Amino acid sequence: RQAAFRTDLSVLLDQVGAGKESLSFMKRRIRRLAQQWAAAANRLDAKLEQRWRDQKKILVHVGFLTEESGDVFSPKVLKGGPLGEMVQWADILTALHVLGHNLKISMSVKELQGFLGVPPGRGSCPLTGPLPFDLIYTDYHGMQQMKQHMGLSLKKHKCHIRVIDTFGTEPAYNHEEYATLHGYRTNWGYWNLNARQYMTMFPHTPDNSFMGFVSEELNETEKKSIQQNKVNNMAVVYGKEASMWKLQGKDGFLQILHNYMEVHGTVYYETQRPPEVPAFVKNHGLLPQHELQQLLRKAKLFIGFGFPYEGPAPLEAIANGCIFLQPKFTPPHSSLNHEFFRGKPTSREVSSQHPYAEQYIGRPHVMTVDYNNSLEFDSAIREIMRTQVEPYLPYEYTCEGMLERVHAYIQHQDFCSLEPPFVPTNLSRPGSAGGSRVPGPLFVPLPNSTALGWASNVTAPAAWPPLSSLRLLVSQEGQSCVETCRSEGFICEPAHFRFINNKEALRRLEVQCDVVDSEVNHILPAFSVLRRECGLQREPLLFSCAGYSPKYRRLCPCRDFRRGQVALCRDCL
Ligand code: UDP
Repeated sequence: RQAAFRTDLSVLLDQVGAGKESLSFMKRRIRRLAQQWAAAANRLDAKLEQRWRDQKKILVHVGFLTEESGDVFSPKVLKGGPLGEMVQWADILTALHVLGHNLKISMSVKELQGFLGVPPGRGSCPLTGPLPFDLIYTDYHGMQQMKQHMGLSLKKHKCHIRVIDTFGTEPAYNHEEYATLHGYRTNWGYWNLNARQYMTMFPHTPDNSFMGFVSEELNETEKKSIQQNKVNNMAVVYGKEASMWKLQGKDGFLQILHNYMEVHGTVYYETQRPPEVPAFVKNHGLLPQHELQQLLRKAKLFIGFGFPYEGPAPLEAIANGCIFLQPKFTPPHSSLNHEFFRGKPTSREVSSQHPYAEQYIGRPHVMTVDYNNSLEFDSAIREIMRTQVEPYLPYEYTCEGMLERVHAYIQHQDFCSLEPPFVPTNLSRPGSAGGSRVPGPLFVPLPNSTALGWASNVTAPAAWPPLSSLRLLVSQEGQSCVETCRSEGFICEPAHFRFINNKEALRRLEVQCDVVDSEVNHILPAFSVLRRECGLQREPLLFSCAGYSPKYRRLCPCRDFRRGQVALCRDCL
């Protein structure tokens, strides 16, 4: 069946259910953004020009909100607890509904069992028949519950699963045997999925798919009026829970800030002002989302203290015309050195409170500075007061951008059909230029598959992203493919590894190999210049953009991307 865009959200609102603060929060959000979603649906509908879209049967099982997982989030909704996850799930549900899919929503193990048609009760009761869904969106808690209640059949059906995973899961942590043998085992990972089945909140490692969420959009009139009504000396502090104000050295920079600006906060409190919040701060208490937006419309500065990491609020602030000031982390925070990231299935190095804001948005909307350097901090505040900025929202965080991306994933990502490793045939060997010189990064433009002797035999019409987007680069020693591709204005594309994991790619790059081995290691394909050793990847689940090794230069499959929509290549729609 063909999917038709929906602009009426009442059925969805009924489906979400009631009786918990988390559900009420999500419904308020869905209602508040309803018009914006409808307008976006109409625009995308026109843009796709009647293209056929399959209507999919989709189950959304929100594991972290189930009683069975302890649901620690719901009771904290009105108390300053994390809301980012609820923001994202509300938006995912809305996007799937608006795209016109056949949606079922489960928020308990009982509902999950009902939808899957497995007998209720404890114990692992395998699903015997076919899976009644094309796609299941869940989270790590939901995976655990499905394992418990679907038993062995989970393995059979896992290609249909998508895991919403805020901070991301790198391939080395996802592969059970490899993780166990090489010290990448965590409490979350090793589900042996294709790493693109994990969907993140921000575009972290491109090994995962970027799901995202949306932020409020403004029309031109609203933008104008916001700019006219900005209060130049008004700052709002990022941090709705008192504990976020405990940062060491906070009093110093907060005092500097107070020398110039009126400081506002939205910190939750019960009866008394939290002692962590200085007396000069005008605390509004935790605000409903739309009131926070109003506050941000007036404020000039939104300032982060280093926690929470990578939440939605900075994007909302920037969309409402604030400048976001945040601390740089030197050294970067990661699962190796910071409690918050410890045990998370990623080695990602977080360079500031909000690396997306730092790397994808940047000045003049975002300033990332060393808070321990009071001169640097002081001059940043003064610069912010002088600078005029327009409200800004990257396309990928608009409703249309999210619909476009989720549409593309649903229509094109297929982890169920076997992707055969590409084995090039017809390897004519023209006299290779001698020497072991490997300049870097090497750049082999691949305009289209026919221009490529070595890729012309690929019969992969279904390859997505299309092969035409592939650019082959070589990393420096110790550099990951994430960095290598980024340094040349591209993005690493894990789906393209299978096209470059071969001798022909090495030959093209004029790499001198005394031996070419095929091994199970997440940095492969790669080579050692010194030892003239080349290695190809034997385990496709371990193709990794994130991996790096000090002694090896990696072959990196990069691709182009759309401005403001990094998840999609130019020809990806
Ligand atoms: N938020 C809110 N009231 C407030 C402060 C924040 O409703 O007083 C909302 C905000 O609009 C954002 C969400 O909380 O969408 C999550 O914010 P944050 O960036 O703090 O991420 P979290 O740590 O909650 O995941």
